[in-house]
Amino acid sequence: MKPLLIAGPCAAESEQQLLETARQLHEIVFVHNWELAFFRAGVWKPRSNPDSFAGMGEKALPWLARVQRECGFAVCTEVMTPEQVALCERYDIHTLWIGARTGVDPIAVQQLADAVKSKPFTILVKNPMVPDVKLWAGNVERFLKANVKQVMAVHRGFADSNENVYRNAPCWNIPIDLKVQYPDLPILCDPSHLCGHTRWIPQIAQLALVYGFDGLMLECHPQPDQALSDADQQVTPRQWEEIIESLVFKNNVPNRELIKQRALLENVDTQLSELLARRFQIVDEIARIKKENNLPVVQPQQWQQVCKRYLKPGQDIQYQEFIEEFLQILHLHSIKKQQS
Ligand code: PEP
Ligand code: MN
Repeated sequence: MKPLLIAGPCAAESEQQLLETARQLHEIVFVHNWELAFFRAGVWKPRSNPDSFAGMGEKALPWLARVQRECGFAVCTEVMTPEQVALCERYDIHTLWIGARTGVDPIAVQQLADAVKSKPFTILVKNPMVPDVKLWAGNVERFLKANVKQVMAVHRGFADSNENVYRNAPCWNIPIDLKVQYPDLPILCDPSHLCGHTRWIPQIAQLALVYGFDGLMLECHPQPDQALSDADQQVTPRQWEEIIESLVFKNNVPNRELIKQRALLENVDTQLSELLARRFQIVDEIARIKKENNLPVVQPQQWQQVCKRYLKPGQDIQYQEFIEEFLQILHLHSIKKQQS
């Protein structure tokens, strides 16, 4: 089965920008005989900085309606309040997403669920900012109970106070847990918000498919460097085409238990590589301090004490040997770096 595709700009900036994106995407999907399930564009943008572009608001809704009419795409946008739901309904926009920021507020989510109750809406529930599968599942449940046309989940990564490679931490085990709880719920991945930069998008998109995700939401802008929001993570329609073309789809039913363990391993490996990068930065600082104070690079006693702290008696001998070897490599590397 082909993944479900959603593409479009982070935000609707002008009628012309929306139509240009939609027309280019239309041509691409036509040539490849693909299907764009939804064209996305944010109209109300929840931004951290109050001076950032906050979306064009209501006046962008007729532009979205025009894309829907002229390109035949179903369009979707983010809503945070019941009033916004009513406005979308007025413009015949029946696919709405619940953003990661709204997702941390159960009262707001319930108000939205009440606003769409028993209506023919498709609701995309993004994961909340915090890595809490119960909160995400609770939000999904509110819309399932509201008896809308369809509910889907979207994994866009989680806020994390550490400095990460990605804008948001993937925590793959969380969407996979959600899938175990709701086997019939389609789960898409949004590599754009997860990565925060286009350079990681192809690999995250592919990984999501390997983990059995049902589709991909990608931000796509005709001139990403001029985008009014999320410029670093938006691809051009042509780049979008290349990414989708490069993906390998497999039809075999994934082994959920294996996938879950792999996802946990992937989380650990991501953390390990980030920790190592941070360690190297600290080593650079230490080198600078030693140099300024004329201290020797190698301080054997200090290092022996560090090793002792990590080697605990009673641990599996193979594990101990591995840790010892690993620490030696790290130490040698640090010495080389400090001497260079
Ligand atoms: C978006 O999709 O444009 C958006 C703001 O999403 P999120 O809630 O995932 O940050
Ligand atoms: Mn965005």
